[in-house]
Amino acid sequence: MPILPAPQPDAGLEWVRTHLAHLSGDEPRASRIRGGQAAADAALATLDLTGYARTRSQVLPQAARGASRLSPYIRHGLLTLPQVWQAAGVAPAADRSKYRDELLWQEYARHLYARIGPGLVQSLRTEPRVSSSQDPWPREMACMNRTVGELEQDGWLVNQTRMWLASQWTVRAGRDWREGDLFYRNLLDGSRAANRLGWQWTTGAGSAKPYGFSRWQVEKRAPGLCHTCGLNKACPIQHWPDSRVGPKVDGPPGVTGGRTGSGPGGPLLTGEPEVVWLTAESLGTQDIPRCRRTRTCRGCSCSTSRCWLGCGCPASVWSFWPRPWPNWTARCAWGTR
Ligand SMILES: Cc1cc2nc3c(=O)[nH]c(=O)nc-3n(C[C@H](O)[C@H](O)[C@H](O)COP(=O)(O)OP(=O)(O)OC[C@H]3O[C@@H](n4cnc5c(N)ncnc54)[C@H](O)[C@@H]3O)c2cc1C
Repeated sequence: MPILPAPQPDAGLEWVRTHLAHLSGDEPRASRIRGGQAAADAALATLDLTGYARTRSQVLPQAARGASRLSPYIRHGLLTLPQVWQAAGVAPAADRSKYRDELLWQEYARHLYARIGPGLVQSLRTEPRVSSSQDPWPREMACMNRTVGELEQDGWLVNQTRMWLASQWTVRAGRDWREGDLFYRNLLDGSRAANRLGWQWTTGAGSAKPYGFSRWQVEKRAPGLCHTCGLNKACPIQHWPDSRVGPKVDGPPGVTGGRTGSGPGGPLLTGEPEVVWLTAESLGTQDIPRCRRTRTCRGCSCSTSRCWLGCGCPASVWSFWPRPWPNWTARCAWGTR
């Protein structure tokens, strides 16, 4: 792997464009969330959870958001769950307890993922009905426009708007929850474990009931946003959506016990490592999305002529890490159906 020059202060975006553009699915943008260990340590040192229980789901105004925004650091191992758990210890009791509950969701997602790995792409309890191919996130809706815009610009969303996007995608638009992968690819904290569990929980694939997204939540969590919306008087989400669950499914093998076959049975030694960095996503190379679209490959430098996702599209390679081979530097743009 080539050693890259250190970026000049405040020239990070240009540095990414020059050296890492081939890893990006679209035009690189600077997020308001700073990366790096120093930024992670500073965020933890200034963590103030007062009011968290009441405001964690607040969307607008941004200044009133109670979410800690630590997820990118937690996802990439710059902050560990025990460290964050401990830092929450000084918060008022209700906030501490709510915050620690959320950390436990993270822990649970990791355990579940460690257990069934790529199996988490299968619906755990019910299969939401797929009924259309309509645009799930119409930008004429101010709530969608604002949320998708923030996802693209910052690579981060509060939990509430993640649920809006996932629910709008599947529960309202009737699209397959696994096709919402564009969402994952834009997240700085994108994690197969928490992301798939989040989708499963929201759409009803892994819960008893889907989360119904409607105007009510927008007015409650983002007051004033509907007044800026061109569809204010003809709101397509004025009423609650149909919240019936789809047919029951057995779930992936091993979800209720026994061997799962995910992950190696023992240590795999391929050399002497200098450093090993383990995260929830370090557990294997099998976890790739099911390819349901034809993709056009841009600048593919691999010699394969067949998609290794098994979907049949020619030389289609995703820009996901980990890749099966380190010298695969190809990337693919979204194509059309
Ligand atoms: C559809 C959907 C997709 C999601 N995708 C991801 C993802 O790719 N990566 C990811 O880390 N989280 C994901 N989540 C969970 C959650 O939305 C984010 O962890 C949270 O919004 C991150 O913001 P925060 O750090 O301010 O969270 P806070 O509310 O401040 O919570 C603190 C920490 O607890 C953990 N946490 C909070 N809520 C959850 C949750 N519901 N599930 C698991 N862990 C949680 C995170 O590590 C978070 O940093 C997803 C949720 C949904 C509904």
